[in-house]
Amino acid sequence: MPTSSELFAEAQRYIPGGVDSPVRAYKSVGMTPRFVAKAEGAHITDVEGKTYLDFVQSWGPMILGHGHPEVLEAVRAQLELGTTYGAPTELETEAAQLVCAAFPSVEMVRFVSSGTEAVMSALRLARGYTGREKFIKFDGNYHGHSDALLVAAGSGLLTLGIPSTLGVTEGAARDTIVVPYNDLEAVEAAFTDNPDQIAALIVEPVAGNMGCVPPEPGFLEGLRALCDEHGALLIFDEVITGFRVAYGGAQEHYGVTADLTTLGKIIGGGFPVGAFGGKREIMEHLAPVGPVYQAGTLSGNPVAMAAGVATMKVLGRSGTYEELEEKGELLASGLQQAADIAGIPAFGTQVGALTCLFFTRGPVVDWKTAALADTERYAKYFCKMLDRGFWLAPSQFECCFASLAMTRAEIADAITAAEEVMSEIAVESFAAPGGS
Ligand SMILES: *Cc1c(COP(=O)(O)O)cnc(C)c1O
Repeated sequence: MPTSSELFAEAQRYIPGGVDSPVRAYKSVGMTPRFVAKAEGAHITDVEGKTYLDFVQSWGPMILGHGHPEVLEAVRAQLELGTTYGAPTELETEAAQLVCAAFPSVEMVRFVSSGTEAVMSALRLARGYTGREKFIKFDGNYHGHSDALLVAAGSGLLTLGIPSTLGVTEGAARDTIVVPYNDLEAVEAAFTDNPDQIAALIVEPVAGNMGCVPPEPGFLEGLRALCDEHGALLIFDEVITGFRVAYGGAQEHYGVTADLTTLGKIIGGGFPVGAFGGKREIMEHLAPVGPVYQAGTLSGNPVAMAAGVATMKVLGRSGTYEELEEKGELLASGLQQAADIAGIPAFGTQVGALTCLFFTRGPVVDWKTAALADTERYAKYFCKMLDRGFWLAPSQFECCFASLAMTRAEIADAITAAEEVMSEIAVESFAAPGGS
């Protein structure tokens, strides 16, 4: 069996950077990515046979763990019946009913194949519905890689030090107004500077692409009020938070409702699915009922829908989110304590199973304060944890996810490893001249 390094070398000959999504490349941690052979439950195994406890979960979808038996069974059953028809199926309605029941603000929903597509389509719909062109987004929030949204856009770019990207026209970026997260005054100023021009404000209700940065008390409520006052739609991008921080996402957790909601990751149960939904009155502006066009060959793909439905059903059982909250809390407080004991400045955040430990004194409330984190220290922490069998995100600006599949004992093992790792790092940086 070839090693990860050999496979990576070969991949780089045919695939730019050897990866199909930049954050996978381990560039910011100065390493070679591990090539994966398989994953099961809470664990992922690389091609060299080393097994890791998985805190990345394919960047969010695998909240049940890998290969959950009920998801596998639903997928196998559907495979026998065909993999795509390009025609409606009952499964899509079932999935839509589950999403609408979870999110009271979502009366109708349309399925697409990725989070990027969901957000791009939601934005077009918001523009078509309001007849306005501009929108407001937050610095450090990521909404996928479509042109208008790839401005000041979170982890993937932040990690590589790309402030914005080539290939996006001035025209596409011009209608995007970027303001700092958790800053209601800046939002209000953006509205007053652009009277009757803002179609929508889009926000990650818990930011999950600059590390995990929770909304400050009153922030989401303030956004709701400002959007109402100025006739703009409020879009919650719940691609990470949906079915994660609560069954009904951040809207349930914080009690603030959006006009449009975008979903992805978890709702596909490990297959490519995104969705956007909202009030019937808005959604009926979509073709074929209305004038806003949006389409997809594999949208609502039956295998993906089967996996998504099975995943949502498991998550809907009682006690799920209490367990996720408890495991998230265990993880976040343990890692914070490990840093505190080692004397390493760290600021931990947690909302349900979403956690992050920033290597900075904090508080972290927006991109500016997140960016103060010591990314070199994170790289050391990452490498040493990987060595010990813990699969973390290869970037300071990503979340560390607790899953239902991992046991409390496994989380405790990770914390013990983190204590060792952080004390090593503290000693090394003390020994290094000029190190801190
Ligand atoms: C991951 C993510 C997206 C993009 O979803 P893809 O499926 O990667 O296109 C959009 N918004 C948020 C908040 C995300 O975390």
